[in-house]
Order: sequence, then C-alpha cells, then structure tokens
Amino acid sequence: MGWKIERKSSQCKAEGCGVTLTLLRLLRTIFFTPMPSALRNIAILGATGSIGRNSLQVIKTLSDRFRATYLVVHRNIDGLMSLITEHHPKGVAVLDESCADVLRKKAGNTVEVLGGMKGVKELVGRDDVDLVISALVGFAGLEPTLEAIRKGKTIALANKETLVAGGELITKLLQEHGTPLIPIDSEHSAILQCLVGEEHSAVARLILTASGGPFLTTPIENLVSVTVEQALNHPNWKMGNKITIDSATLMNKGLEVIEAHWLFHLPPAQIDVVIHPQSIIHSMVEFVDGSVKAQLGLPDMKLPIQYALTYPNRTPMNGARVDFPGLKSMTFFEPDRRKFRCLELAYGALELGGTAPAVLNAANEVAVEAFLQRKIPFQKIPDLIGKALDAHSPGPVSDLDHILEADRSARMRVTSLL
Ligand code: NDP
Ligand code: MG
Repeated sequence: MGWKIERKSSQCKAEGCGVTLTLLRLLRTIFFTPMPSALRNIAILGATGSIGRNSLQVIKTLSDRFRATYLVVHRNIDGLMSLITEHHPKGVAVLDESCADVLRKKAGNTVEVLGGMKGVKELVGRDDVDLVISALVGFAGLEPTLEAIRKGKTIALANKETLVAGGELITKLLQEHGTPLIPIDSEHSAILQCLVGEEHSAVARLILTASGGPFLTTPIENLVSVTVEQALNHPNWKMGNKITIDSATLMNKGLEVIEAHWLFHLPPAQIDVVIHPQSIIHSMVEFVDGSVKAQLGLPDMKLPIQYALTYPNRTPMNGARVDFPGLKSMTFFEPDRRKFRCLELAYGALELGGTAPAVLNAANEVAVEAFLQRKIPFQKIPDLIGKALDAHSPGPVSDLDHILEADRSARMRVTSLL
C-alpha cells in the first residue's frame, strides 16, 4: 500500500539517500502515473452485490479512466444478465458451474462465460486485468483474491473475511509479489486517508468507529428474541445480508479490528473501537503527540470505492455533502462488550493468532447463515463461535492448506452444534 511505500521511503531518507529518493519519486511520477487517457481494466468479484453495484456506478461515472472488463458472481444469473446488458463486460464468470451453463444458453455469443473457481481464477489472472475489486461475500473470496495477488494485480479489497482468515499468508504474498492492496471498507479507507504523509512510528492507536447497529439501545435480555427483520434493519448503511447481521452482533467491528491489524501492521492493543451512532466519522488515528486525525463523510460506499480506484489521488464526485450546521450532534460511547460478545471473541482470536481468526470467521459465517434461515436465535451466534474457538488449537498459517483445513473443520463443528 502507498502508506507503506511512504514509510520505507522516509526510512531510506534517514539513512542519507534523500536526493536519490527525490529523483526516484520524480521518475516514478513520470513513468508510472497512468496518463488520463489510459483506460484501466477492472475485474469485479461479486458484481451483483451491494459493493459490486456501487463499484459499477463509480466506474460508469469515471468511464474515461476505468472499464468493468470482467464480472464475477456466485449464482445470480438474472442479475448478471442485466449487468451484461448495461455494462458490456468482455467476459464473466459464475462460481456455481450449473448456473454458468444456464447463463451460456441465455447469453449466447454476447459475452464469454467461464464457470467454477477455476474459471474465476483464470479471469482475474488475465493479462488485460489491471485492478481487481474483491467483493464476494465471505471466505469464498480468499482463493480468487490470492490468485490476483500472485498475478500482481492491484487489489481494491472489500471482502474483509479474506483478510481475517488469510491475513498472514496474504501479507507475505503481497510483499513477495509487490502487489498493492487498497482497502474499500470505509473504516480502513478512513484510516488510510488519515495516514497519508505520516510515519508508522508516529501512530499511537487506530480508533475504528462503529454505528452500534440496530440493537445499540436494546436491553441485553431482549436480544434473545430479536427477529431476522429487526437485525437486517441497519440504521445507517444499506448492505448485503451477511455484513448487516455482522453489524448487528458487532462481529463486523471485530472482523475490522483483525483487518486493520493486517493492513496497518499494529498490534490489537493499538486498535480501539468506539461507538459513533451517526456514522459521519468513519475512523480516526491518534498520533504519539496526542493529535487525532479523522475522516468524515456521509455514509455512502461510493466514496471509499472511488478512493481505492484513484488512490493516491482524489477525483471530483457528485452527491450530498456533510452539512455541519445540520448535524444535531456527534456522540461517542464505549462498546458494551458483555452485550456484544462477538467483538470480544474477535479480539481473542487475533491474540491467539495462527488459524484462530480463520476459525472465528468460519464459525461466524455458519452461525449467521443459520440465523438468517431462522434455525437459531440471535444470541446463539456468539455461543457457537465461542465453542468453535474453545475446541480449536491454533496452528501456524504457512500455506493455504492450513487455512482451508481450519475453515473446513470449524464449519463442520458448528454445523454439528446447530
Ligand atoms: P452482498 O451480499 O450484497 O453481495 C455478495 C456478492 O457475493 C454477490 O455478488 C454474490 O453473488 C456473491 N456471493 C454470495 N454468496 C456467495 C458465496 N457463498 N460464495 C461466493 N460468492 C457469493 O454483499 P456485500 O456487497 O454487502 O459485501 C461484499 C463484501 O464486502 C463482504 O465481505 C462485506 O463484508 C464487504 N463490505 C461490504 C460493505 C457494504 O457496504 N456492503 C462495506 C464494507 C465491506 P450472487 O449475487 O450471484 O449470489
Ligand atoms: Mg466497515
């Protein structure tokens, strides 16, 4: 990420090669800044989702710079067909093979259709892909994202589960392949924006803001009987079902703490969470001198998506702006960790390290799906995750197989407990 590049550069300066560095920066600017006319080809993993559709809107408004060249979905063929008609991608891939067959018949010769994980990986690795927006939901995003990293594609990452389960491996591969990864998640985009021009050693802590979700003021004893509809009714953000439930349990914030750890290389003790129900401050960075920088904006994912695409530059964007006199108040609270146990479980898994975050993630995915299918009550979600973590002895994560095995066994365990 650019911030890391800045950090390395300043270390070099301290060693007395400032002039070389300035020259290098100049050359980099001349040779590597894309000309405005160079169209960048984007592959979107999860094109039919909330992030995918917002990304397509951003790309459409910046059509002189970006093109949605490849689209990937799970199995929503009808949704994909309408995206094909509107955005004319060169190729598409459908994770579910049988749905890919159906699409081939429907689409005829209008577009190339690939199927299965193999097809998805082939698409993201193609020479004409410049940037991959990773926005499938859940663990399924890990393998295609790893493939894109190995092929050196710039990654704009929304799929936080990928970094939670595979953070150690991803960090290693990003370094090995020199692949840039820029976060889309609004909190991490906010932190990145606060860190521009700053030294890593100057950071005291990251402060992730959380809206608190729909149950912020619900008494703990009432959580056992909340419905799926209530949990899906997020006060500030319109998102996919899985992340909306994660926001209601505060697991979303827990996953984001782990995501921040891998993105910004700070220990859990330097990553805090504060409840900010208005979702205007998207996150903050406190520096060693006590100064705090925050990034503010209306809750609209198009802004962090556009920032990830144009990073490190900014580009004009139409839309509503923060109306400060109109803001009645901005409030902040400590999260109630007894009521929202998922947050505590996520910190615990990060402390344990190794395969523990992959187990946390897998257990959460199975439990959330079971809640959405009305098989378990809301409060059973943290119970199941806690049991999966208790039963797991974290092992090292030196390759993908370790993560796949931790994920598979946690899913089996939680499924057996349903
Ligand atoms: P959605 O549920 O809206 O979309 C999910 C996308 O993933 C769809 O394209 C869907 O394809 C595909 N998908 C669904 N199930 C599976 C599966 N089992 N395996 C593989 N792919 C699947 O999700 P969001 O767009 O809300 O979220 C996507 C990612 O971005 C998540 O990791 C989320 O945490 C993260 N994120 C989202 C934010 C938001 O505002 N929405 C904000 C910050 C992060 P199909 O339509 O074919 O089923
Ligand atoms: Mg977020």
